[in-house]
Formats: sequence, C-alpha cells, structure tokens
Amino acid sequence: MELPKTEHIDAKHGLRKQLLVLTAVLVLGVWAIVSHLRSLQVDLVESTTIQSASQYSQMLTVFRTLYTSEVVQKLTSEGIQVTHDYHQQQGAIPLPATLTILLADRIGDKGKDLSAKLYSPYPFPSRESRSGLKDDFAKEAWEYFNSGSQDAYVKVEDFGEQVNVRYAVADRMRASCVSCHNSHPQTPKDNWRTGDVRGVLEVVMPIDQGLAKVDQIFIEVGSLSVLLLVLTFGSIALIIFRLQEQKNRIETMNEQLASEVTERKIAEEEATAAKEEAVAANQAKSIFLANITHEIRTPMNAILGYAQILQRDSELTQDQQNSVSIINKSGGHLLGLINDVLEISRIEAGEHTLKEESFDLVELLNDLSEMFHLKAKQKGLRWQVENDFPSPKLPVVGDAGKLRQILINLVGNAIKFTDDGFVQLSVTTVHDNDYQFEIMDSGPGISKEHQQSILEPFTQGANVHDKGGTGLGLAISVKYLKMMGSDLLLESELGEGTRIHFCLNLVLSGDEDLGVEINDRVVGLKAEYKVTVLVIDDIEINRQLLHRMLTDIRVEVVSAGGGAEALSLLETNDVDLILTDLFMPDMDGLALLKEIKQQSKWEGIPLIAISASSLQTERQHYLDLGFNDYISKPFYFESVYQCLQTHLHVEFDYQKTSSGQSISSSKTKMDGQMKQDLLKYAELYQVSEIEGVIQSATNEHQDWVRIVQQFIADYDMEGLIRYVQELEVSDE
Ligand code: ADP
Repeated sequence: MELPKTEHIDAKHGLRKQLLVLTAVLVLGVWAIVSHLRSLQVDLVESTTIQSASQYSQMLTVFRTLYTSEVVQKLTSEGIQVTHDYHQQQGAIPLPATLTILLADRIGDKGKDLSAKLYSPYPFPSRESRSGLKDDFAKEAWEYFNSGSQDAYVKVEDFGEQVNVRYAVADRMRASCVSCHNSHPQTPKDNWRTGDVRGVLEVVMPIDQGLAKVDQIFIEVGSLSVLLLVLTFGSIALIIFRLQEQKNRIETMNEQLASEVTERKIAEEEATAAKEEAVAANQAKSIFLANITHEIRTPMNAILGYAQILQRDSELTQDQQNSVSIINKSGGHLLGLINDVLEISRIEAGEHTLKEESFDLVELLNDLSEMFHLKAKQKGLRWQVENDFPSPKLPVVGDAGKLRQILINLVGNAIKFTDDGFVQLSVTTVHDNDYQFEIMDSGPGISKEHQQSILEPFTQGANVHDKGGTGLGLAISVKYLKMMGSDLLLESELGEGTRIHFCLNLVLSGDEDLGVEINDRVVGLKAEYKVTVLVIDDIEINRQLLHRMLTDIRVEVVSAGGGAEALSLLETNDVDLILTDLFMPDMDGLALLKEIKQQSKWEGIPLIAISASSLQTERQHYLDLGFNDYISKPFYFESVYQCLQTHLHVEFDYQKTSSGQSISSSKTKMDGQMKQDLLKYAELYQVSEIEGVIQSATNEHQDWVRIVQQFIADYDMEGLIRYVQELEVSDE
C-alpha cells in the first residue's frame, strides 16, 4: 500500500528532529568532556605552580638557614656585627631576614611574574613601611600559622587580568636568633621564644599564562571536536536522508510494481476466463456446426443420392440429364462449403489427428490431374502435372486425405483465379523422402499486403470479384501442413502469377498393393455373386436411398428402422453385410454392435457404420469402436461399392465411362460449320441454338459434346468460346 505524501514528509521531519537532538546531545557531551579535561588541566597547572612556589620558598628558607649557620654564626663569634642597616656600619653584615628580603626583592625585580616577600606585624622600625600585614591573605596566613599549623598557606587569587598562586610559609624564630632579637635596641618585641612565628614568607607566582594556554588549547580542541561532530553528523544526516529518499523511492516503486502485478494478475485471470469462455464458445460452436452439418447432410444425402441415381438412368432426355448434373454439381459445391466450415472449426478445436496410411503418390497426382482437367480445359488453361519419380508408382506413408485436400485447395484456387495461360502442379524429389510440391499459375497474383492475411480463415484477397469461395481453403491447407510439420510458402507479384510451394517428408511404404481402383461405372454384381445387405437407419429416405443404390447393382436388401428391428431381421435373414446408422432412437448403432458381437452365429458379418455428423477423418474412431469400416453421408456409389468389394471380396460388371481419356484428348476435333455456329450462338448467349447444334452432332463428337453441355449448364459462354476456339476442325 502506498504511504500518503504527508506521511512521507512527517517521517522526514521526525528523522531530522531526532538527528538534531542527537547532534546537540553529542555536542554538549563533548563540551562537558572538554570542560572536565580543562578543569583537570587547570588543577594540574595550579598544583604545578604551587609546587614551583613551594620549591622557591624552600630554596629561600634553605638559603637563609645556610646563611645563618654558615655565615652569621661564624662571623658573630669573630666580632662582626650583624644588623639590618649593615650598609651604614663598617664591617657589618645583613641579618638573615634582611638578606632574605633583599634576595626576594631581587628575584622580584628580575621577572615581574614572580615575587617573594617577608613580612610581619612586628617589623623593625626601619622596615615598617614595607612590612606589616597589608592584606587579607597576609592576615589569614598569620592567623593560620599562629593557630599552630605547620603547613603552607596557599591561595589562588584572580585579579581579573591575572591569576596568582600565593604561597606562604611561617618564618619561625630559631633558637640562635631569640637572644639577638629580644636584646636588639630597636626590636618591636622582646619576648620572642624559639619556634614563635616571627613573620610570613610569601611567594607569589602567576598561573594565568599557563591557564590561558590551556584555555586556548581546549577551545581549539573543543571547537575542532564540535566542528568534526557537526560535520560527521551532517554527513550522516545527509547519507541517512539520501538512503531514506532511496528507500522511499524503492518503496514507491515496489508499491507500483505490486499494483502492476495485481493488475496483471487480474488481467491474466480475466484473460484465462476469456480463454475458457472462448474455448467453451468454440466447443459450443463446434457442437453447433456438427449438429447443423448433420442436419444439412441428411437432406443433402437424399438430394445427391437421388441425383446420382437419376444420372444413371439412360432414359433421361439430354435436358433432364443437364438439370440433374446441375443438381449434382451445386449439391457437391454446397457440401464442399459445409465440409470446409466444419473442417476449420474442427482443426481450431484441436480435434484433428494425422493418419498414417499407405498410398500411391503417383495415383494421387493422376487423380488430381483428372479432376482438374475438365475445369482447366473449360477455362482454356494449360494444365500440367509433373513429377520426377523414377517409376509409375510411388507408395508412401502419410495422410493421403489431407494432402489431397491441400492440393485440391491450392490447384482449385489457381484454376479459379487464373483466366489466361497455365496452371501447373509439380512434385520434385528434394532429398531421399523429401518432396517439394509446387503449384504455379499465370493468374492475377496476390498483392504483398494480402499475402499474409489470406492465410487466415475467412479472409479473401482483392481479386475475388465473382469468383466466390469462403476464404477457408488456404487457412485449412496451412493448418494441415502445420500438422504435417511443414509450412506453406507463397511467392507472388501483382500481375505476375502465383507460386505456392511446400515440402513434405513421405517415407516409402514398400506397399505395392494399394487397393482396387474403380474407374469405370459399376453396372452390377457379377452373376456368380449373391449378396444380402441389412440396411439400418431411422430416417426412411436414407434407407430408401441405400436400398435403391444396392438393388441397382443386384444386391438383395433388407431394411430396418432401428436396432431392435434389425436384430429380429438378422434372426430370419441370411445377411452378408450390415450398414447401420449410429444415432437411432430405440437402440443406437453402438448398442447394436455390442449385441451382434456377442452372438457367435453373427460372427464374421462385417458391420459398417454410416454417419452424417463427421468427416472421413473419423474413420479410425469407428474402427476403434469395433466397426469394420465407415461410410460418410452423403453416400457416393463408389464408396458403397468399394466397401462391398473390400469386405465381401465380390466382383462387378463395369461399363466403360467416357471420363478421362476422351475429354483430355488433345485430338478432339469439330466440324468447321458446327464450330462457327457454336461460336456465333455463344457470343449471342443463344442457349437453345447451341443445344440444337449439340443434338445434330454425331456419336463421334461425344467428347466435346459433354464439355459444351457443361458450359451451358454453367451459363459460361466465355469459357465455351475459349474452348471451342481451341478445337481443331475435322477434315470431313
Ligand atoms: P477462397 O478461394 O475460398 O476465397 P482461399 O483461402 O482458398 O479462399 O483463398 C483466399 C484468397 O487468396 C482468395 O480469395 C484469393 O484472393 C487469394 N488467392 C488464393 N490463391 C490464389 C491464386 N492462385 N491467385 C490469386 N489469388 C489467390
């Protein structure tokens, strides 16, 4: 939590106050220590001065004693007179006291700081003016000595400008002096006794200089200490303030960081919740799409199924055949769209897995070549499929369904968007099992700004115009390639065509037997085979459709509307193969599977699941559940017949179809007149006239007739003109 600004300021002031108090206490402490040291120093100076004064006074006393014993006593015995006025009498010498006073005076004259004097309340008349007890110290000292004290009397006196030590000792009457003093004519007192205090010998010594020095030293030391203290504390305070500021900054940053972390946490939680919501929404979308496609595929199944049945009816007029073909084509287109939408949502929901199966890469390329041949031809495009494989078969392992879908999407786009020139699919071996797939066209190209966005679902480029599409083809291809560990690369310039390529690793499978191809139309089971199939579906139209598809090729059919009915039919019929829907009200496909598997008498009857809600990629799922195979709705004849062939090993009678070789033949020729008529009517959009020309064409012209019929069905007159223009004129 962030401290309010005022609290920061209060904290700062509090700290400053504490530091000031601490500094003051320390300064006072230092001052007290310095003062104490100073008083000790003063005491030391005083005691040293007293010591000096004592030595000095002792020296005077010793000198006097020595003078008395060694000079005065000896000369007195020789008749030499000893008197205070010795300088007025011939041959006389000074009294010891007189000499001491003289000596003291002389010493006092030499240095004005030091002085000594001898005084007494009983002076000889000649010294009356100088002697006597002149001040309080003198009187106190006299009293002190006369009270019996043997010690020195000492005092420190402060005279403002000067501080002095006054050191006084008693001048006592010696035995040798008593008689002289008592008998002297001018004596002020004649009853002296040995030991009496005769006078006071005082030494005065100044101590102010020493003290001044001490003071100066201590003032300097004190000031320096205080200065140092102030500086130290100032610096400490500064550092503390800086640290405090730094701490505050770090705290503020921490608080900001903490709030950012909290915000991010909230954002992350929101993002997770949003993600979960999105996942849930995505799942809901997938379920919705699966349901809706199921709903659409069921009626589509009927439409396409019956359209196929009708197409097989040779009694239909050309017009009816064209209409059925349009139903078939449009239905197929619608189914493609549904599949694409379902596919992308399934990829996004992560429901897709890669399949590993053996397939012939050459066959897959041939299929594509065939598949797009007509379309390319209709648009007047050169369509080429190339490879550099050493043999006519290349069995590899991979997800054939997804690779096929990718190539259909890319080639489909190339043909859709290219109006002139060529479309080419080439596969080259880059390295052992690495193959480069390349789709090139001479179409309008893709602008740089769209090259990235068109790889996203539901995005289309600027060149779409009337070309249609959902914007899913590239996105599905990119996602499939990602699953296969590859990337789709796109190179294009506006107006310069497009090159899309990718690399795939497809291991050789060594499996030469890659299933039976049914290129031609199945007419029926060969006469030697007799097959009964049980069809189970709760939706009647589906039952009818399968019934019709199977009976068409002479397969016996028994139908049931649910699992329970199917079980009772199984009891009474000799069934070779079961085709069952999965979602049924009374007993669903799975429950039925369980029941059948439990009965040994039905062991070996292939059980094929049929479902409208899933794509072919679900096959493995149904195999895992225990079914023998899976057929998706809408049913295609080929897949139903392929299933019979695979599981019952039956053989069929075929009728040659005209697809493939005849259409792709480059030798297609046309009567010159017919060519002219067709071009004229096509330019005028006269469809009935074009149909008239077709009807007049003989059987040999069947190859171009079918293509022209396609153009009419699509109302693509421009395509028709381009196509017809390319046809060679026959010699007839
Ligand atoms: P759709 O073809 O359904 O629009 P796709 O995902 O297959 O969706 O393609 C997305 C867009 O990429 C197309 O609408 C088109 O603008 C652009 N595109 C794809 N292939 C080609 C191509 N060969 N030439 C020019 N434009 C292309």
